[in-house]
Amino acid sequence: MKFSERFRVEPGQKITLARRDPDDTARLPDKKAAHKRMKQNLKRLSELQYLLYAENKRSVLIVLQAMDAGGKDGTIRRVMGPLNPQSCKVISFKTPNEEELAHDFLWRIHRVAPRKGEIRIFNRSHYEDVLIVRVHSLVPKSVWSKRYDQINAFEHILAENDTHILKFYLHISKDEQYQRLKARLDDPTKHWKASQADFDERKYWPDYTRAYEEALSRCSTNHAPWFIIPANKKWFRNFAISQILVEHLSKLRMKFPKPTADLSKIALE
Ligand code: ATP
Ligand code: MG
Repeated sequence: MKFSERFRVEPGQKITLARRDPDDTARLPDKKAAHKRMKQNLKRLSELQYLLYAENKRSVLIVLQAMDAGGKDGTIRRVMGPLNPQSCKVISFKTPNEEELAHDFLWRIHRVAPRKGEIRIFNRSHYEDVLIVRVHSLVPKSVWSKRYDQINAFEHILAENDTHILKFYLHISKDEQYQRLKARLDDPTKHWKASQADFDERKYWPDYTRAYEEALSRCSTNHAPWFIIPANKKWFRNFAISQILVEHLSKLRMKFPKPTADLSKIALE
């Protein structure tokens, strides 16, 4: 079985997060082994990014979702950090502003979708509109419940227009979240990260779990699969995401475009 298949949610598969071990390391012996393979993956990923940019025919959209302190920032730093910023961009979605709220929920998402040749990383995404919005009833159920199908339709449009979509849910345990939030209180270099909201949201852990389970179960499709990444161990999380990115981007069989000029006629003085 390919590594990525192990963590992929099959279309229509019913997900129960309690049955997924956030400490799983896929029999990888240790951190050292993971680092070694991750280094190779990052090198390959840079090559694939270069090809994607040169080819300029399709784009890649990576969606990162997690509970608070789930490790989205760390993933971006470690896995996407080494990519060339020329054609890789991170978009972080915060509470929608007045203008965004005056539009349909996908408006602010579609306008920042990746252009051809580019990789975009969504740090949170349109899934917030069936997560925090559902947990806190920010819109009535009659509105958010329709969004699963709307999201699938939207992602289908992107995919049919050559956007390759990969979605990662970073799966941590409630105990691990406790440790990480505690570190935000104890470690002076992390104080800036401590927000009341993170501590308040923790009380809604079961509601978020249910909301995530429904999003993962209903919105994993062949053209935009969800992966549930065991994320208690940061080294495994980083390795796993780098591995899945390499496996998927390699499958695109990208090629350098043919030169536009007749190279035999170019004289280099
Ligand atoms: P960390 O995981 O480190 O806490 P963060 O991603 O939570 O980082 P913050 O600036 O703390 O970053 O929070 C952004 C907030 O915006 C989150 O609470 C998120 O749920 C909220 N948000 C994002 N999209 C929406 C949305 N569509 N509707 C309502 N709230 C949203
Ligand atoms: Mg937060």
